[in-house]
Amino acid sequence: MNYDFVIIGGGSAGYAAARTAAGAGLKTAVIEGGRDVGGLCILRGCMPSKSLIESANRFRAIGHAPEFGLQVENARFDTAKILARKRRLIDEFAEYRRQQLKEGEFDFIRGTGSFIDKTTVRVRDLEGGEHTVTAKAFLVSTGSEISFPDIPGLSTAGCLTSDDVLELERIPESLVVLGAGPVALELAHYLHAFGCRITIVQRSAQIARGFDEDAAKVVEQSFRKRGMNIFTKTKVLQVESNGTTSRVIFEHEGIRQTVEAAAILNALGRNPKVAGLGLENVGVELADGAIAVNAHQQTAAPTIFAAGDCCGPFEIVHIAIEQGERAARNAVRLLQNDSGLESVDYRLKLYVVFTEPQVAVVGLSEFEAKAKNIDYLVASYPFCDHGKSIIMDEMEGFVKLVADKSTREILGASVVGPDASELIHEVVVAMRFHASAGQLATTPHYHPTLSEIWLYPAEELAGISPESAIILPGTHKAAHSQA
Ligand SMILES: Cc1cc2nc3c(=O)[nH]c(=O)nc-3n(C[C@H](O)[C@H](O)[C@H](O)COP(=O)(O)OP(=O)(O)OC[C@H]3O[C@@H](n4cnc5c(N)ncnc54)[C@H](O)[C@@H]3O)c2cc1C
Repeated sequence: MNYDFVIIGGGSAGYAAARTAAGAGLKTAVIEGGRDVGGLCILRGCMPSKSLIESANRFRAIGHAPEFGLQVENARFDTAKILARKRRLIDEFAEYRRQQLKEGEFDFIRGTGSFIDKTTVRVRDLEGGEHTVTAKAFLVSTGSEISFPDIPGLSTAGCLTSDDVLELERIPESLVVLGAGPVALELAHYLHAFGCRITIVQRSAQIARGFDEDAAKVVEQSFRKRGMNIFTKTKVLQVESNGTTSRVIFEHEGIRQTVEAAAILNALGRNPKVAGLGLENVGVELADGAIAVNAHQQTAAPTIFAAGDCCGPFEIVHIAIEQGERAARNAVRLLQNDSGLESVDYRLKLYVVFTEPQVAVVGLSEFEAKAKNIDYLVASYPFCDHGKSIIMDEMEGFVKLVADKSTREILGASVVGPDASELIHEVVVAMRFHASAGQLATTPHYHPTLSEIWLYPAEELAGISPESAIILPGTHKAAHSQA
């Protein structure tokens, strides 16, 4: 079969690209090789993890009932029911995606694809047959796979992966979590909420590497307060299991330590899925194991594009979708000999960790602004001094804005605290339209809400004096202002 545009991999990036390309009039096909259709986000990523975490958060909220004058006796959880709810939701989401792929204005081909040459892909059908498809342009959006770094015993000790944790029918008594990225922290939060003793062993100096240190510290302190053990700046020497007990041996502050637990979670990250794609047959190059692309999502072979986790640089869904859409639009332009290709804009990149407290970041974090030598100003405000969060008894964390020193345009924001994953979007919208701190500070906010906390750092960055600042009841700031 001959096409204009063929996509290998029908996850978030691939589906977004297919819809866009077909909508723009390209004769398009998606080749999807997974036994289950839906991609990582729906099947084994964002959606199942957030479903389990929702149960965990609600169970933890019951634990806080006495603070609100409520009495809840014999609160219990049922892992089978939590899992059944997750499976029901995931089945629904996956079924919807299957329909979108089957009924789209493009062909949906089940099988694994690999390049024979720059215009031909071999498809190995799931049933064992084989055929070829040809196209003028391609997109590779094959995602990622769990990484097993070269640590003695790691691949033979029967470590759990995130896939396994999402399907656990029993909460283990104890768990050593290797790694402290978003997936590691979210799964630690989930299991700990249901009574699992957690030890986190992290190589870097802080958990949630890549986030500002002050934000990561709030989560670390909160996790420690809840009773989790956390070791940072470690070197894992050996991972072992005798079938009933698992053991991690590591170096920490020059001392050899051993932690035993019922299980170990390998949450040391994921690698781009590039093996078996025949990339060597078409001149597609790799950089650090990922498909190397330019700003237009083009690989070293200009008619072959890549999007999503297989190329990075940020392995998150909204980026995968944006890359997929841009790649599709660029394929259209390339085939029309239009030289004006679009670039992906990472100015509004978002990151969220769905722990308690949650962490969310948009745009430039403070450490990125520092590293890039940007002349910036920063202001922050703590939830422990904000009326609505005090009412909610959610007082851990803070919000922080980073602004350009001369124009006061908002360049980035961080939240660590209640509903951070929702709160961040106010600043995304402000940044989308290049708002200044002053414009944010003079935007009406309903009282009392969590969102109005943004007014404090915004006023500070805009240089609005306490006398003329908006006065919010329930904070020391208001008390100072009124005084
Ligand atoms: C536990 C967990 C939680 C996460 N939570 C979040 C979150 O809350 N928010 C967020 O933004 N991100 C989250 N992520 C990351 C997010 O899921 C990924 O960044 C995103 O799904 C990547 O999309 P993709 O299209 O690049 O890849 P995928 O969705 O993995 O799609 C790749 C597709 O290609 C197919 N494929 C592979 N090889 C071939 C081949 N040779 N031929 C044909 N088909 C092939 C696969 O079967 C798959 O369907 C999470 C990840 C994990 C593991």
